[in-house]
This record gives sequence, structure tokens and C-alpha cells, in this order.
Amino acid sequence: MSRCSDVIVVGGGLHGLSAALHIARAGLKVTLLEAAWIGRHASGATAAGVRTLGRAWQEMPIALEAMDMWHRIEEIVGDDCGFSASGQVRVAEDDAQMHALRMRAEEGRRRGFGNEQLIGAELLRELLPAASPHLVGALHAPADGAADPHRTIRAFRAAAEADGVCILEYTAVHEVRREGAAWRLSTSRGDHVAGQIVNCAGAWGAKLAALWGEEIPLGLKASMMIVTERLYPFLRPVVSAQGRALSFKQTAQGTLVIGGGLQGKADIDVQKSFVDFAELSKGARAAVAVFPGVADVRITRSWAGIEARTEDLLPVIGPSATVPDVWHAFGFSGHGFELIPVVGAIMADLVTQAGTAREIAPFAVERLREARVQAG
Ligand SMILES: Cc1cc2nc3c(=O)[nH]c(=O)nc-3n(C[C@H](O)[C@H](O)[C@H](O)COP(=O)(O)OP(=O)(O)OC[C@H]3O[C@@H](n4cnc5c(N)ncnc54)[C@H](O)[C@@H]3O)c2cc1C
Repeated sequence: MSRCSDVIVVGGGLHGLSAALHIARAGLKVTLLEAAWIGRHASGATAAGVRTLGRAWQEMPIALEAMDMWHRIEEIVGDDCGFSASGQVRVAEDDAQMHALRMRAEEGRRRGFGNEQLIGAELLRELLPAASPHLVGALHAPADGAADPHRTIRAFRAAAEADGVCILEYTAVHEVRREGAAWRLSTSRGDHVAGQIVNCAGAWGAKLAALWGEEIPLGLKASMMIVTERLYPFLRPVVSAQGRALSFKQTAQGTLVIGGGLQGKADIDVQKSFVDFAELSKGARAAVAVFPGVADVRITRSWAGIEARTEDLLPVIGPSATVPDVWHAFGFSGHGFELIPVVGAIMADLVTQAGTAREIAPFAVERLREARVQAG
């Protein structure tokens, strides 16, 4: 027996949940198929930084809209997702790094973005009293912050189900066929038929597209995270460093969450990721360089999460390049958490109007295919 929907969303990470929620709110019948369980991969492994700071300029318009949505996330999903607008700060350790941050701030102003402000050493010390005295300044995005990833997953799932989305876990899509004007998706638990498909399969976005014959060059990331024992509260903003792979924050529970893009290993065929402890120790050293007082803090947990990485580190958002009624939203390359609310709204525009007023041209899948042809 096959089940019918207007739209099938493949992938039960946060982008799949947000797309399903927004499409259901636009009045369509939506089924979401997840191969494992909701939040199994990047969305359950994320540091959940809500960051416009340092974004690629092409992403900035949708990132700023997403930031507005985070500031009213409770209206959207009925829970605050643990979001706190604690700000994000990128610190400079010498004059050359400060110069690079100044250039970035000026370019942002020229482009009409007012989210990032340059601050000097004195203001930085007020913001980060525990930071090393050698820091010379920073770029500060005061409206940025961080959320609680698992609370966010629970909230988006509950909101999607309340709006009628049918969520099926342990349901892996392994074959996709065109049948007249519809798509038939064969899964590990029977067939589903729908008019449109939304590809939110994360690291498996290209493997899914290959099922309808679309070839997409896509790389892989296995970003690693460290969590420490609980400490007395000493830090509000999320801190990154201009010259180091570092992202450093203190949660409401007091633990430190340290990442910054250091890479472990991943195997998408067996859906597993592995921590590289030698590489991870660089993250710990970077944290101590910026916050010397954490040198003796005990690490309690570490992990790596699997995510897709595109050549230009921009996501793929938009129509399939080769088949009708298929829409992509994957390839967030390590910084897709912030974009979750707005990308769902974009996917609802695309399935209901076959277009959107938002600026998504830089995210067209064709650019990856063209880059591959030019490189070849
Ligand atoms: C360690 C780490 C730290 C991060 N920190 C940040 C941060 O601080 N700020 C930020 O903005 N971003 C961050 N990110 C990135 C962010 O978390 C991701 O961009 C985002 O979660 C991606 O969500 P997604 O829904 O696209 O992918 P995923 O959550 O990976 O979901 C994709 C889902 O698709 C399912 N799937 C795949 N193939 C199939 C199939 N054939 N059938 C059915 N289901 C299928 C998978 O099982 C998976 O659950 C981080 C990522 C990692 C790994």
C-alpha cells in the first residue's frame, strides 16, 4: 500500500522539520521521512550557535532575517528553544588580525549590514573579563547568541506535528521514481507518493539526489565538539578567534562547549563519525590561549557530527537542476543552525509558488556542477 501527500520532506534534522512545519502552515499535506530518528545527525550534534558574525556576504540577507525570527522564536514554534541573545564576539590577538576585522566591519557597513561592530581592548575586557590580557580588540554582533539544540529539535517537532505533519522515523528512502506528475518514494517501510519532494538529507543530500539521476558534487565535514565540567558562570557571549579554529561558550548549566570546526572523521555509508583526539587537543589549546583560566578544567565529553560541505561553503537552496517538483535545502557546511527558521519559510515559498522573494540565487545547485566542470 502507498501513502499520499502533497509534499514529502526527506530528512528529519532541523532543516527538514522547519521545512515541513512551514509547508504545512501554507496549507499542504506533508510527510517527513527520517532514516534514523529525528535529530540523529548534524542537528543533534550541533553547538547551536546563532551567528550572523563573520557570515559570507551572500548569506547575510537570509541570516539577518533568520536572526529576527530567532528573536521571536517562541511565537513561531511555541517555545524559546533556549535561545539567548548573549552576543557573539570574534577576538583579535594582534594588530594584523585587528586590521582584518576592521576591514570586515567597513565592508559590512558599505554593504548596508549593521550587525557587526568593531570594539577596542577596553570594551572587550568589560565583555570578557576572564579573557587573556593580550587580546587587542574584537568584532561584536550583539544580537547574535546561541540556543539549546535538543530543546530546539523538540520544539520544531512538536510544532510540526501540531500543524499536521506526519513524521515517520526509521524510514529510509532508497528509491525514487517519476510516475506521471507524481513522485513515488520507496522506503524501508513501504512506498509513499507525493507531488513534490524536499531534499533535507544533510550529508546525504547528494546521495538522495542520485536516486533521481541528479549528480551533485558534495564534500563532507566531521566537526568535533568538547564539553567540560560545570563552572561558576563567567562568560555570556559566544567567543570565536580571528586567527584560530575556536568557538567557545558557557551554557546555562555552566558547562563550556568548545568547537570551531576542527575535523574528525566520518563515514556516511555506515553513518558514523569519529573523534580525532590529536586534532581535538588543538581546540583545547586554542581555548586556553584565549581563556588561560580554563587550563585545568576537566573535559567530560567529546563527539563529532556528520555534515555536508560544499566547495564554496554556501548551502544548496532551490530547485533541482534536472527534474521537476524537487527542492533542495542541504550543504550548510557547518553553519546551518542559525538559518533554520528562514530556510523553512523559503521552502514553503518554493513548493507553493515555485519561487521566493528572498535572495537565493547564490545557493543554486548549478554552481557546484559548473565549478566541477570548470575544474575538470
Ligand atoms: C559539531 C557541529 C557543530 C555545529 N555548530 C554549529 C553552530 O554553532 N552554529 C550553526 O549555525 N551551525 C552549526 N552546525 C551546523 C548545523 O548544526 C547544521 O548545519 C544543521 O544542523 C544541518 O541540519 P540538517 O537538517 O540539514 O541536517 P541533519 O541534521 O544532518 O539532518 C539530515 C537528516 O537526513 C536524514 N537522511 C539522510 N538520507 C536519508 C534518506 N535517504 N531517507 C531518510 N532520511 C535521510 C539523516 O538521517 C539525517 O537525520 C554544527 C554542526 C556540527 C556537526
